[in-house]
Amino acid sequence: MGRWFESNSGSHFQIGTDHGICALQNKNALALSVSGPPVPTMKKIILKPGREESLRRRHPWVFSGAVQSAGTEPASGETVLLLDSAKKPLALGAWSPGSQIRCRVWSFDTSIQIDAAFFKHRLQQAIELRRCSGFVQDDVSACRLVYSESDGLPGLIVDRYGRWLVVQFLSAGAEYWKDIIVAVLHELIPGHSVFERSDAGVREKEHLLPRTGALSGDEPPEHIEIIEHGLHYRVDIRRGHKTGFYLDQRDNRRRIAKLASGEVLNCFSYTGGFALAALAVGADCAINIDSSAGALEQAAANARLNGIDNRRMENIEANVFEQLREFKHMQRHFDLIVLDPPKLIDSKQTLDRGARAYKDANLQALSLLKPGGLLMTFSCSGLLPTQLFQKIVADAALDAGRQAVIVERLGQSADHPVALNFPEGEYLKGLCIRVE
Ligand code: SAH
Repeated sequence: MGRWFESNSGSHFQIGTDHGICALQNKNALALSVSGPPVPTMKKIILKPGREESLRRRHPWVFSGAVQSAGTEPASGETVLLLDSAKKPLALGAWSPGSQIRCRVWSFDTSIQIDAAFFKHRLQQAIELRRCSGFVQDDVSACRLVYSESDGLPGLIVDRYGRWLVVQFLSAGAEYWKDIIVAVLHELIPGHSVFERSDAGVREKEHLLPRTGALSGDEPPEHIEIIEHGLHYRVDIRRGHKTGFYLDQRDNRRRIAKLASGEVLNCFSYTGGFALAALAVGADCAINIDSSAGALEQAAANARLNGIDNRRMENIEANVFEQLREFKHMQRHFDLIVLDPPKLIDSKQTLDRGARAYKDANLQALSLLKPGGLLMTFSCSGLLPTQLFQKIVADAALDAGRQAVIVERLGQSADHPVALNFPEGEYLKGLCIRVE
């Protein structure tokens, strides 16, 4: 049975565990100390001269090298006051002792309190943004409600799948406020069960262990069913990629539904989203290629769920780079090819190797297109700039001997917004290319 707790802002939050109560009381004490002019109990972090510039531009990260002095080391996730070298207050942030990104800013207004009311306000704003962008509607039952820094909540992801909220706490600060965030989500979106998927690799960089499991409400079943633009998908929120589904590709799945015809090849298909969207409208048949047998089983199940004849959809478990060469050898050609590889560049060290892999996949795909065919090609590597991605695809077309034009630029769906002060939030880029 949950208990009720009154925050210092007067609103009530239900907390389900003793651990939650305890954490909440400590944090409330902290929150009180943050209000108004800073009091001595909140730890102060002084930055090196000149290193405050990015904060002045409202970028929410402080790197370890920018810190001049931290006094007594704050605890992981503890709220700290950031000061410039002249000791002028700059921001309130969450301390992350183990990470290169030593502090992530909660607020540039140093007069506010970081407490339950703060999280309620930020979460309300995030949900409202999705509401006015049209994501709260009947034919879309899954969308991202909170996208980390883009929503002023660094390290927090909340994805809604029907009556499930799947949550990732990916920074020390988000982890620190976990109980309160879950309580506020309950209050703002009643009737949902909350499942944690804090098993993304980035948690390691914050020195946090992976964690998954129900945080409130029911244990999720093996699969849940969502609706996207009228199509049904089975999603495994417990073990599927990311939080279960590639919500960031939603707008592009809708786009393919407008563009597809003839034979479609869906490379790096995961559970077949692009193929289903294409088959539901214009395409005659589609082939999914993925290295994961489980993902392809889901793709087949999704086709059945939507009444799509299994003769129209083929699933090939293979390495895309090899299978594309095999198709070339077989002289197979397609009307539309989707290339949506996993993140091939995840650090500066992997930039060259990743760039070569992008080029190879695009070269192979371009050479398999029928005259007049379309390539929808993507990169989800945030470290690869859009212009460089375009150059890689241009080089691939050159080597494939195909004359091609960009007919459309593609990106992440609108429930993954990009805050102007945080351009890193933009990671998914895509080009729709037509070959002669
Ligand atoms: N387009 C999908 C998401 C793709 S995610 C969607 O909209 O749902 C990338 C997929 O690539 C994953 O399913 C992963 O299993 C697969 N994958 C990774 N490396 C691969 C390789 N070399 N060959 C084939 N599939 C690969």
